[in-house]
Amino acid sequence: MITVTDLHKHHGELQVIKGISLHVTKGEVDAIIGPSGGGKSTFLRCLNGLETFQQGRVEIGAHVLTPATHPNRDAATLQAVRKSVGFVFQQFNLFPHLTVLGNLIEAPVQVLDEDRESAVARARLLLDRVQLAAKADVKPSSLSGGQQQRVAIARTLMMRPEAVLFDEPTSALDPVMAQEVLAVMGDLAHDGQTMLVVTHSMAFARNVATRVHVFAGGLDVESGPPAQIFDAPAHETTREFLRHTRA
Ligand code: ADP
Ligand code: MG
Repeated sequence: MITVTDLHKHHGELQVIKGISLHVTKGEVDAIIGPSGGGKSTFLRCLNGLETFQQGRVEIGAHVLTPATHPNRDAATLQAVRKSVGFVFQQFNLFPHLTVLGNLIEAPVQVLDEDRESAVARARLLLDRVQLAAKADVKPSSLSGGQQQRVAIARTLMMRPEAVLFDEPTSALDPVMAQEVLAVMGDLAHDGQTMLVVTHSMAFARNVATRVHVFAGGLDVESGPPAQIFDAPAHETTREFLRHTRA
């Protein structure tokens, strides 16, 4: 589903990604953990064409991004990639002037030309799935942060993405709200949604992920099944990071 080969990215002199390869199989959930500044967000942004990169290759289903991918010349490819890969950010970025339902149907109706009735029917099903069926007609500002993030997840799912990237989706939330969001993400994983999740939640990485990657200093220093990473980490970087998260 997602194959990244030897990705390199720099900002001027600063090497941010120093050669990362990673593969996410359809239906699999990969978690990325690691210290701040390690390149996690940059990596995700390269995967859906929000950032360019200088070396390597990104395959999303049948679509390929390379350093030669050009915003104008390859606009169709970039659009196809962004359609097949949903992105959930730390900040929910909901449209404040639209209702919850309005937020969900906006892109399918405007971008996919779906008819309104069918989009509304799908939106109601997804709101039910994120436990917010009763909130369809309110504005986002009347919701808690955890509820807003669940709306953002439902909005992403409206585009029927083949894979969903999450960048620290719970880091702006208190523990109770974070738990509500992680529960929804766990449900999606259980239903076979392909996901790549940058997370602070070691419980999610341990209990939900198929594979865990430890990013530090622009490298995937160690990856493997959760039991290996958490119970028998091979690298000092991983041990050091886990000591901090447990402290
Ligand atoms: P993480 O998500 O793991 O915290 P980031 O991908 O946000 O890491 O950042 C990795 C490194 O790249 C950091 O040193 C950050 O300061 C740097 N960086 C990110 N974006 C830019 C940018 N637009 N210009 C210059 N440096 C950047
Ligand atoms: Mg980040």
